[in-house]
Amino acid sequence: MRIVRYTPAAGGPASYGLLEGDGEEAVVVALDGLPYEAVRPTGERTPLAEVTLLAPVEPSKVLAFGRNYAEHARELGNEVPEIPVVFAKFSTSVVGPGAEVGYPALTSNLHFEGELAVVIGRRCTRVSPEQVAEVVIGYTVANDLTMRDLQRAEKQWTRAKAFDGSCPLGPWVETEVDPSALGLRTTVNGEVRQDGTTADMLHDVAACVSFVSQAMTLLPGDVVLTGTPAGVGAIQVGDEVAVSIDGIGTLVTRIVAG
Ligand code: ZN
Repeated sequence: MRIVRYTPAAGGPASYGLLEGDGEEAVVVALDGLPYEAVRPTGERTPLAEVTLLAPVEPSKVLAFGRNYAEHARELGNEVPEIPVVFAKFSTSVVGPGAEVGYPALTSNLHFEGELAVVIGRRCTRVSPEQVAEVVIGYTVANDLTMRDLQRAEKQWTRAKAFDGSCPLGPWVETEVDPSALGLRTTVNGEVRQDGTTADMLHDVAACVSFVSQAMTLLPGDVVLTGTPAGVGAIQVGDEVAVSIDGIGTLVTRIVAG
């Protein structure tokens, strides 16, 4: 299944839905309520072209792994951390597919980071790696936008990585994909900048989700970002960043004047 969140293009309340079909045939089937405990289609069908897609989740928190690909750690001159590096983004960080994100006035070195995002489907605490598949509903695509200069200047990464619009997510949650070896490509204005595979993660999806759940309860809709492969770099006002993950989809974000 592909789970979306959307409003009618003409405006109106947001709903969750299932995306069915491709291209011009694609329709969104409205769901009654949230998709986590049970998926309840209402029978209301709207062509995809007549809706606006929103971020497919409303997380209480986004937990993100830093330096989870060895080549990316090296490209920024960092060691691979012995203990995983985890930081957080907030509900105010999250924006949807096709979002326009304002270039923050605080930075002169805004970077993209294409990442696999894990979506939690069940409330859980202290899950073992073996139990993680039971608490994950699916996967989406993320762009971990980062003010690299602030990240270097400030001890905690919160301002550098959790500013408004710093967490584009989407375009939908794919529930049927195996996350262990998915190709991940990021383009800026059509030029390939990252071309990696989730097989190169130092800590895999099960390890990442289990690790954060030892410290805090994860709620349905919470998101775990699994780190970025090599190839990150600066983006400017006017740039269009597209992160594609095989088997999931493509998340497009446009950088506009802040
Ligand atoms: Zn990242």
